[in-house]
Amino acid sequence: MSSGVEQASGQLPNQGEAQATASAPAAPANLMGMSPTQMRDWFASIDEKPFRATQLLKWIHQHGVDDFDQMTNLAKSLRSKLQDLAEIRPPVVVEEKLSSDGTRKWLIRVTGGSCVETVFIPEGERGTLCVSSQVGCSLDCSFCSTGKQGFNRDLTSAEIIGQLWIAAKSFDSLGSGKRRAISNVVMMGMGEPLMNFDNVVAAMQLMMDDNCYGLSKRRVTLSTAGVVPQMDRLADHVDVSLAISLHAANDELRNQLVPINRKYPIAELLRASRDYLARMPDQRRKLTVEYTLIDQVNDSLEDAAQLARLMVDIPCKINLIPFNPFPLSDYRRPSNNRIRAFQHYLMDKGYTATVRTTRGEDIDAACGQLAGAVNDLTRRSQRHRNKAESRIAATEVGN
Ligand code: SAH
Repeated sequence: MSSGVEQASGQLPNQGEAQATASAPAAPANLMGMSPTQMRDWFASIDEKPFRATQLLKWIHQHGVDDFDQMTNLAKSLRSKLQDLAEIRPPVVVEEKLSSDGTRKWLIRVTGGSCVETVFIPEGERGTLCVSSQVGCSLDCSFCSTGKQGFNRDLTSAEIIGQLWIAAKSFDSLGSGKRRAISNVVMMGMGEPLMNFDNVVAAMQLMMDDNCYGLSKRRVTLSTAGVVPQMDRLADHVDVSLAISLHAANDELRNQLVPINRKYPIAELLRASRDYLARMPDQRRKLTVEYTLIDQVNDSLEDAAQLARLMVDIPCKINLIPFNPFPLSDYRRPSNNRIRAFQHYLMDKGYTATVRTTRGEDIDAACGQLAGAVNDLTRRSQRHRNKAESRIAATEVGN
């Protein structure tokens, strides 16, 4: 049995990771990341009835059980069949940190040796879990520390839902009823969720399924930098809340901050956002617009005016995120006065505009600070460090 806590060596290949060779025995299927539909199909493939899938989903996700022997409503013969064919393998927790403000951060090792981070942000009795979707990120937004590390790989669906499984289980261990502490999930950790579409969709289906975590659709949010073709597919699969990382209201500036804008400019991003909202069964749903405020870069009142004009015909709420610094970044957080002025400009124009408070700063858990320990295959982090160091050297010479 594995408890989800450190058990790194001798790992079996994960679902979807198995390198099939003619002589190797078939890898056990990892039931942890199977969506409800995939689970039913899998049980059908081993000649078992669909209700078995429901039983397994409940054991894994509602009771936090990863040991077939504890599944007391399954016959012994079925348990041993499952032991032969399958496994329930969560990712491995390397470290858990608790901030003075109650924010918790888990450092999670995934196969291949890299680590990703998951953060829980409490609000009263409840709170939000911020989940990672990739090891590193390929999009390289200029103000994001995850992007500076380069891209390693997509997380499997087991590694994505496993973050919620681990967090829920850790609340269970604090006493009964605490599982409900996680009321919201945001796909705003490391990575671009829409670049890992299938695994993210499977994990979100588990989050919302009544046999699993039963989260309401409004309380699961996918945040994207604007992978437009995948935004167009999203409503075919789920109707979660959508957030877009806008950060600039004109293409010239957004091209610099969010390089994927060169491929899918603002007009296309907003068209896809509008279409997504139009396909939601609940027409009261609003788009969340994330706007990281960077001192002297995108935080003037002229920027606020452009943003107000841009969003005028889309039902939205604007979430301003003061830039969170990370090592070797040149950007600065604007003063509180500039942040308030930007916010009030938008509010005067009739927008709901909130400023995201920075949480978990003492454990580096704030937005954009999630670094994990990425085994960078692109060497981008080294280039970033070299560039920053030569800038520092030039300043020293100049002095
Ligand atoms: N790839 C997804 C999820 C990223 S993280 C996306 O782009 O939406 C969630 C939010 O944090 C994004 O809006 C991202 O742009 C923002 N962010 C990244 N780095 C930041 C930093 N250093 N300070 C403040 N916000 C940051």
